[in-house]
Amino acid sequence: MTFATDGLITRVIDVGASDKLVNIITHSRGRIGVMVKGGRSPNSKLTAISQLFTYGNFEIYEKNSMYWLRGGSVTNSFYNLSTDVSKVALAAYLCDLANELTDEDEECDELLRLLLNSLFLIGKGEKDQAIIKSVFEFRTAANSGYLPELSGCVYCGSDSADQIYLDVMGGRLICTDCLSKRGEKRPNISKEFDDMPSATVLCGISPSTLAALRYIAYAPANKVFSFDLKDDSDIRDLSKAAEAYILNHLGRSFDSLDFYKAVM
Ligand SMILES: [Zn+2]
Repeated sequence: MTFATDGLITRVIDVGASDKLVNIITHSRGRIGVMVKGGRSPNSKLTAISQLFTYGNFEIYEKNSMYWLRGGSVTNSFYNLSTDVSKVALAAYLCDLANELTDEDEECDELLRLLLNSLFLIGKGEKDQAIIKSVFEFRTAANSGYLPELSGCVYCGSDSADQIYLDVMGGRLICTDCLSKRGEKRPNISKEFDDMPSATVLCGISPSTLAALRYIAYAPANKVFSFDLKDDSDIRDLSKAAEAYILNHLGRSFDSLDFYKAVM
């Protein structure tokens, strides 16, 4: 069986002397693994279209229960990512997150569009990388079923405090007052707080950061990057909260994230 599909190459693994295995996240078939015979040979027509971060139309055939690349054309190679090591590193981390969050035959059209927009913005270099990274992390977490309750403090409903905490594993907000009350009541084993997970991860966020998190979670997909945070400490809060949120819900970290932090 042969088919053609649009997709983005999100991982490349060398196989044998001259072949490679690539992950392609597609609009219609989820994430698929495709063998590229001779894909590392300079003489192969498949080499150029099977590079990491290539978005294109791929002709694929199925043989012995595996997918093989036959040909295709490049729509966007995102060559401008390679101008800066931090751009490549961030793009690689977002691709790793996308690989983790997708599977074959799973609907992932919105995730792919978000990833393409993220790579485009990283390459362009005008938007703060921390904001692009946070949008991808928090929006994909929300779309993967991990959307926290962002309307206000889970106990008193307030959302006007100068500082509020995102309870990462509980998926909810807690204001400073209720948090300190919790601290006082804890020795009495207050019923109200018994559901607090033992390994609590709390990220302090300002009102502007909370507004940004709400925007990222609820904005239409094509407008999700259309906001700005001016204050450096707000960007730091957002960055910390979005990263903690996706990594704790996935229960893992990524070497590519460590590498990005080392070179950013
Ligand atoms: Zn409260």
